[in-house]
Amino acid sequence: MLNDGELSQPNQEEQTHFDFDLFVIGAGSGGVRAARFSANFGAKVGICELPFHPISSEVIGGVGGTCVIRGCVPKKILVYGASFGGELETDEILRLNGIYKRLLSNAGVKLYEGEGKIVGPNEVEVTQLDGTKLSYSAKHILIATGSRAQRAPIPGQELAITSDEALSLEELPKRAVVLGGGYIAVEFASIWRGMGSTVDLLFRKELPLRGFDDEMRAVVARNLEGRGINLHPRTTIKELIKSEEGVKVITDHGEEIVADVVLFATGRAPNTKRLNLKAVGVEVDQTGAVKVDENSRTNVPSIWAVGDVTNRMNLTPVALMEGMCFAKTVFGGQPCKPDYRDVPCAVFCIPPLSVVGLSEEQAIEQGKGDILVFTSSFNPMRNTISGRQEKTVMKLVVDAETEKVLGASMCGPEAPEIMQGIAVALKCGATKAQFDSTVGIHPSSAEEFVTMRSVTRRVAAASSNPKTNL
Ligand SMILES: Cc1cc2nc3c(=O)[nH]c(=O)nc-3n(C[C@H](O)[C@H](O)[C@H](O)COP(=O)(O)OP(=O)(O)OC[C@H]3O[C@@H](n4cnc5c(N)ncnc54)[C@H](O)[C@@H]3O)c2cc1C
Repeated sequence: MLNDGELSQPNQEEQTHFDFDLFVIGAGSGGVRAARFSANFGAKVGICELPFHPISSEVIGGVGGTCVIRGCVPKKILVYGASFGGELETDEILRLNGIYKRLLSNAGVKLYEGEGKIVGPNEVEVTQLDGTKLSYSAKHILIATGSRAQRAPIPGQELAITSDEALSLEELPKRAVVLGGGYIAVEFASIWRGMGSTVDLLFRKELPLRGFDDEMRAVVARNLEGRGINLHPRTTIKELIKSEEGVKVITDHGEEIVADVVLFATGRAPNTKRLNLKAVGVEVDQTGAVKVDENSRTNVPSIWAVGDVTNRMNLTPVALMEGMCFAKTVFGGQPCKPDYRDVPCAVFCIPPLSVVGLSEEQAIEQGKGDILVFTSSFNPMRNTISGRQEKTVMKLVVDAETEKVLGASMCGPEAPEIMQGIAVALKCGATKAQFDSTVGIHPSSAEEFVTMRSVTRRVAAASSNPKTNL
């Protein structure tokens, strides 16, 4: 039974007959979650998704979306492979693609293979592989089409690859150049270096990972260098030239690097171009992202959007949260808004960085009062076996007045596994005293989070501490 939440439409519309209560365009993380739970709440749901292939395009996709087919999952498997210093093959992606299809059919969601397009506030058209078009009406339409990697507009850019192709290479490149300072760039640099390639990482700023805590960015840069990655800060590519030895990379400093593979990890754009949004009146921002309110509703009341296509916080668990809130609000009678506070995340470089809450710079910028910074740096016990000299670094940012822990970060083995638990503590509003009164697990790295007793520094409120912008 259709059971709309507080955002239900007027009576007149209730009486109109639609083929579906909900039609979802895009079966990635956000779309599948929204479709399944809406169906579980009793809605009649249809979903369409482009045909499967590991390398995406405007007409190629696959059930499961970026995370499963060309994002988090294949990448993490490669990180495991790189950590063990070897290569590996996997059928995992096809297996997960099958699981996602089963999840949809078990929930009673009707899946169509083809390209979805919106032709009216309550009308969707699906173009199938053979060109035939199907047309359906739906009381609500959900745009969950995600985003796609963009190539930097550099002469010779066609010689470079994006993360899609990087996850489908047949051979390990002996020499790789990676352009970009974001998490995807840093992760691929780590993966290839871990497998034995020569890697050059080029990025515009002084340090990679803009937006993360500056101190932790410096730790990551030191580790990347320590593992043999050649860092090129304040550098970009001027031109790529095909040569007999490989692709010649000319930097803006006039350097030449020859590579087997050049990866552009220079940003992603929302998949909205071919959805016909302008004609239907759905507003997008200057990057093409669908504009939504805090309930994920667009300016057209029957059309909603979740996930990367809205460019809010582009992470799989956030797309899942948005999809879930949509289903609860529209079909579950439990209106809810996604909560973007204390969302933990990780950069799966080797060793990984994981964070939750505010960085030191963000805490200073928010400037409510003084902050206390606690840090710990130590050689983890596992390094006694490998002999590796690579410090694990942990950090807590604490409100000096309330003692509330505002942010936590860690760079070291198992950081994401540890940070998930710390995120629960932050979400519950834990204070430093509560961290301190928690008994540690010994011997572990994680216990450092509850044994950092001495303040590393006290930072006075915003005015005296301009944000560093490395
Ligand atoms: C290399 C890489 C690594 C990543 N690593 C992580 C990570 O470690 N952790 C993390 O949280 N996030 C990670 N992400 C981000 C994560 O993958 C995305 O945030 C997440 O997949 C977004 O989900 P979504 O549902 O919005 O979009 P998607 O998963 O991209 O799904 C959108 C789907 O819509 C389909 N589609 C598009 N247009 C149409 C159309 N017209 N008709 C029908 N179907 C259409 C697409 O084919 C796609 O399957 C990574 C991303 C990349 C690229």
